[in-house]
Amino acid sequence: MDVQTKTFAILSRYPGLIHGFSTRRNGYSRDWYESLNLGMHTQDDPGLVRKNRNLFYKSLHIIEDQIVYPQQVHGDHVAYCTKPGTVPHCDALITDRKSLFLSIQTADCFPVFLFDPATESVGLIHSGWRGTSEDIVGKTILKMQNTFNAIPSNLIAAIGPGVQQRCYQVDSKTAHHFEARFYKDDGPGHYLLDIQSVLVEQLVSRGVHRSKIELDDTCTHCADHLYYSYRRDGLNAGRMMGIIGMR
Ligand SMILES: [Zn+2]
Repeated sequence: MDVQTKTFAILSRYPGLIHGFSTRRNGYSRDWYESLNLGMHTQDDPGLVRKNRNLFYKSLHIIEDQIVYPQQVHGDHVAYCTKPGTVPHCDALITDRKSLFLSIQTADCFPVFLFDPATESVGLIHSGWRGTSEDIVGKTILKMQNTFNAIPSNLIAAIGPGVQQRCYQVDSKTAHHFEARFYKDDGPGHYLLDIQSVLVEQLVSRGVHRSKIELDDTCTHCADHLYYSYRRDGLNAGRMMGIIGMR
């Protein structure tokens, strides 16, 4: 059984760099979680999730013992990782270690992949509206600058898939965390928020070249055959996983 994994052309051209974002295709889970659910904190059978994760890891030629897992809290803390295992309370990871692979889990929130070819360092960010409103992407770039002497104009970035503006209705309190150009009216007190465009803006404002940013504009809420969506499936939503690291 071959899993189907989303990769980005802009990251695929670097030998030794491993990355991917899982789809829900060709796993073991059934019913709501059909089929490649990688989220352990769901109501799915943990044994099946473990089997699914191993399928995904195998497809990337990595193993469980090389992976860092953040305990995501929709915050803005960035962790510098030097060993595999669980990192408490953070939504962004960076590393310059070889054979160490960063992971995040999402289902509508945006995964943001960062790679610096000059220092061979990587970053991986879970950015929903809260993390985005706190500029977790900008804070991750800053930490790559301070920790690895990375230069933002060298960075390669890839964003998505996540929930797109047409499917992302928020209330005024949420919308007003962002500049007005990033949302539009959707009835009284409701707005459609464009998180992905905010993320592009945050990358560019930190010095990343627009030409070095690749977007996947597939909407997780619409593409039910490919992705889980918390907005669509609520507590029954499985999780996708993003991975990045240097061999
Ligand atoms: Zn949609």
